[in-house]
Amino acid sequence: MIYNEYGKTGLNVSAVGFGGMRFDEKKSHKENAQLLQHAYDRGINYFDTAPLYCSDTSEDIFGVAIKQMASFRDKFYVSTKGMPTEFDTAKKAVGAVKKSLKRLKTDYLDFYHVWCIRSMDQYRLAMKPGGQYEGLMKLKEQGIIRNIVISTHLRGDDVATIVDEGHFEGVLLGVNVLNFMYRWKGVCAAHDARCGVVAMNPLSGGMIPKFESELGFIASEGETPTEAAIRFCVASPEITIALIGFTTAEHIDTACKIADNCQPFTSDDLDRIKANVTENMDRICTGCGYCMSTCPQNIPIANYMQFYNNKAMFHKTDEEMIKDLDFEHQWGLLVGRDADAADCTQCAQCEKACTQHIDIIKRLAQLAQWETKLEAK
Ligand code: SF4
Ligand code: SF4
Repeated sequence: MIYNEYGKTGLNVSAVGFGGMRFDEKKSHKENAQLLQHAYDRGINYFDTAPLYCSDTSEDIFGVAIKQMASFRDKFYVSTKGMPTEFDTAKKAVGAVKKSLKRLKTDYLDFYHVWCIRSMDQYRLAMKPGGQYEGLMKLKEQGIIRNIVISTHLRGDDVATIVDEGHFEGVLLGVNVLNFMYRWKGVCAAHDARCGVVAMNPLSGGMIPKFESELGFIASEGETPTEAAIRFCVASPEITIALIGFTTAEHIDTACKIADNCQPFTSDDLDRIKANVTENMDRICTGCGYCMSTCPQNIPIANYMQFYNNKAMFHKTDEEMIKDLDFEHQWGLLVGRDADAADCTQCAQCEKACTQHIDIIKRLAQLAQWETKLEAK
């Protein structure tokens, strides 16, 4: 395992981080918790979760594991999060942290994220007098939070503005081998400000393993596209931690094996990827689900957008998309939906929530046209 210093904190963290957002929810908490010990045994020492992950069970699963690992609690780092839109006062922020501590079965947090910042207004909300940040600072003074960090989906210029203001020890942002050309500015801004840089979605929310045969151009000889995508984030000097959502022990073993041996991408590798990637790769639905509760029409937005990835990533023709849509209606992502794409009223609530800044309304309009053509067949 490679270890990197997290910003200027002096903490040495594993280049592969354990992301607690992809547990198998059919398994018991105890079974899922075993994955954390397995990861620790393989050299991972950074464990990241959040309330709401995995139908709001992830922090509880972490709690089971952390209790079992309590005798060496100082040997690993625990991270969780809270949104300023939900905890908009210092008092609420403190309450949220205390709730997380209880669930996580620990009396301190190594990292706490001001979570899911999608606009500068949300950032200002977190930083307002009497707001979330003020509450977190009080807990930091008491040693309950060791490092306050931020998780953001903002563009590079805004990330630069935030890190330059100097309130955070690190930044968690969505960057991977398919979108780095569009997001590298934020990575470099954080790195240059000596913040820890944690890459979320290194596998593009599972899209890279799903489309391995189409994404062969990512890989060098002897590796799969999934391995290449992990190597990209793990070996990039600007990235401190590649945060990977693990479901099985095999996933952990694969990531750790890559981190044991990996070399950074060469400039030839990067040129080859740049030649194959289009701007659409910056607008891939990662299936995060943040849009889902926003829709007054109950449209399964994430399912539609995951399906649309085929168009955005690989430029499938309309005829191909219509044919595939038929399958998704009957057997796949869109079985049993409560509403169709055409039910969209264009209220735009989902676009405000979308972590990947996807033009959902436009894509739904195109999907509605395909659905009409499918019905006419
Ligand atoms: S814009 Fe359409 S899909 Fe998005 S929340 Fe509004 S009705 Fe739902
Ligand atoms: S459409 Fe956006 S918010 Fe919804 S699941 Fe996809 S990436 Fe996440």
